[in-house]
Amino acid sequence: MAVSQARSRDSAIRYLKGVGPARAALLAQLGIERPEDALYYAPRRYEDRSRLLAIRDLKPGEAASVRAKILAKGVRRARRGLAIVEAAFGDATGVVQAVWFHQPYLAQQLQVGQEFVLYGKPEGRGPRPGSGRGGRLQFAHPELERVDEDGDASLHTGRIVPVYPLTSRLGQRWLRSLIARLLDEFAGQMPEALPQTLRQAHDFSDVATALRQLHFPDSWEALEAAKRRLAYEELLLLQLVLAQRRARMTATIKPHRYQLDGPLTAGVRQALPFTLTASQTRVLAELFEDLARPGPMARLLQGDVGCGKTVLLVFLLAAAVQSGYQAALMAPTELLAEQHAGVVRRYLEPLGVSIGVLASALGPPERKRQLARIASGELSVIIGTHALIQRPVVFARLALAIIDEQHKFGVSQRRALARKGAHPDVLVLTATPIPRTLALSLYGDLDVSTVTELPPGRARIRTMWVGESQRQDAYTLIRSELAQGRQAYVVYPLVEERASPAPPARSGASRELRAATQMAKRLQADVFPELRVGLLHGQMKPAQKERIMRDFVAGTLQLLVSTVIVEVGLDVPNATLMLIEHPERFGLAQLHQLRGRIGRSHHPAACLLMCETQEESVRQRLSAFVETTDGFALAEKDLELRGPGELFGTRQHGWLRFRIASLSRDRDLLELAREDATALVAQQPDLDQPSLAALRQRLGQLQSLRA
Ligand code: ADP
Ligand code: MG
Repeated sequence: MAVSQARSRDSAIRYLKGVGPARAALLAQLGIERPEDALYYAPRRYEDRSRLLAIRDLKPGEAASVRAKILAKGVRRARRGLAIVEAAFGDATGVVQAVWFHQPYLAQQLQVGQEFVLYGKPEGRGPRPGSGRGGRLQFAHPELERVDEDGDASLHTGRIVPVYPLTSRLGQRWLRSLIARLLDEFAGQMPEALPQTLRQAHDFSDVATALRQLHFPDSWEALEAAKRRLAYEELLLLQLVLAQRRARMTATIKPHRYQLDGPLTAGVRQALPFTLTASQTRVLAELFEDLARPGPMARLLQGDVGCGKTVLLVFLLAAAVQSGYQAALMAPTELLAEQHAGVVRRYLEPLGVSIGVLASALGPPERKRQLARIASGELSVIIGTHALIQRPVVFARLALAIIDEQHKFGVSQRRALARKGAHPDVLVLTATPIPRTLALSLYGDLDVSTVTELPPGRARIRTMWVGESQRQDAYTLIRSELAQGRQAYVVYPLVEERASPAPPARSGASRELRAATQMAKRLQADVFPELRVGLLHGQMKPAQKERIMRDFVAGTLQLLVSTVIVEVGLDVPNATLMLIEHPERFGLAQLHQLRGRIGRSHHPAACLLMCETQEESVRQRLSAFVETTDGFALAEKDLELRGPGELFGTRQHGWLRFRIASLSRDRDLLELAREDATALVAQQPDLDQPSLAALRQRLGQLQSLRA
């Protein structure tokens, strides 16, 4: 019997009565292929049609349902052949008009005498109070439900009615009826994944009730409760996977032991030109505790741009090396790898540590020599790009693997670096803070440390949104800033295809590139002939990039015209001004990263956004950006405005494709699910208790589906 149930719930929807291949194909476009998919197909919104109004009581601008008969109908042609269908509907209390444009076929379908429920927002002038006469209210494109057409009219009216996201060729009413039918047939067969104990603890209904209420709620409260229960279940499943991964990690014993206090860590401490902030000190202690543990570190280090994460890495590298091991540091670009190497050399080379860089820029013979030094253990600290995870790279005794700007890499690259050692300690860094819900989902198998303050004495960054008419003023500002010895960036978007709101084709990208190049030429020749202007973009040869960067760091170049390549990690404290062209092309997180290049000293800094677009979504994003420099606040805002799909490469993350749950809305549920998952796994690492059988099964199903 269990077998036949499973088959029906999972069987293709096209074999159901009344569906057929054509509609099945349309349903498939919505992701509905089996009855179960339909049960979890969440309505886009709901309409409260639970109260039918008398026509007399309709008010202009207020959505309402009335039940009325057609008194008269007609169709007329307006300009350019536009068909307008009009009908008058009446009940015992009055008359209301309805119009439809572009739907001439309605004229045939509507017959005088038929009774309907109309739902919509009437416009016009209402009847004079008390008289019921003299008003002229009109519904434009109301939803229509035939009252006596079939037996299930009650599905569509007189209640809170679901409205689904649709493709154009499927009817709202048809889908609503189908889902009602599927609920009757299959909701009761859905296995109950949540164990009794958890349902009781959180006062959750059984799954069948929740699914019925999701589609046809008895009340708004019942709807909310149903959504919470279903969202919780999804979040719990994700958190269980992560909790199991964490548990496995904790159970692992790493083969290396650290000497945490030693000559190198002491030497770094002595060489520090500043005192660590309280927040850096706390995080550093967390990191060292991890090193001291028997199991490998698996930690995410986050903190706002410029909070000083790099120097913490230097301490970790020092600890690894003074313990006799190798440490690797991987960065997403050569530029950043070079910059890190500069910092690390500054601190560790005087202490006698051998440091090497592995980048694709190396010529074959040099690369070969470098690989040999890594394999022999001659190099203790190895800094590089993704070149570090390529096959020929073999470490002698890698104990610590650090990945900067993790969001530019994938999980597989993180694992690949970890596999270069025997259970090495792994630390990943994000460039900007990520919202807690995302951190707990995307990086939920990691512990999280957060640097919560910026070093003291940083000047505020003023951010201004300006238009083309203020371009000359912007140039004047740049000129005066540079006259005082500061430096500036002009950023031109070279948008990655994926990150762009309106994906530009490759040709678009090269056009942008030309734009940046021309911009640099023009700025140098026409606008700032007296200044030293440089150009930096991703398609330059590594050596060329490096030369430009070195000149900028040294101050030989005063103005750097660049593509988003400067987005990550660059640290030039003397740069205090940034002009961003076409900021509407960037998401909030990326803008924040860009702006993070300035405001790195006590000199006041300014960021100018040159944008003419007035589009609402752009306005929201840029206003938020102007208002705050707090990366945590911006990250939350980004999540709210764009949803997780666009952020931090979550799109590739099958696990984060929730059907009901939302990472911007269900924060409390996620915390709850995480606690519960951790507790469950602590008691039952393999979830093999009988009461968890259904949960385990569902987990297996998801894992195979989304692997
Ligand atoms: P991020 O966290 O964005 O990677 P960095 O590590 O590049 O930031 O640090 C930004 C700048 O702040 C660097 O110039 C660094 O030397 C400086 N810095 C780091 N910690 C402190 C501190 N405690 N006091 C003063 N300056 C600091
Ligand atoms: Mg950094």
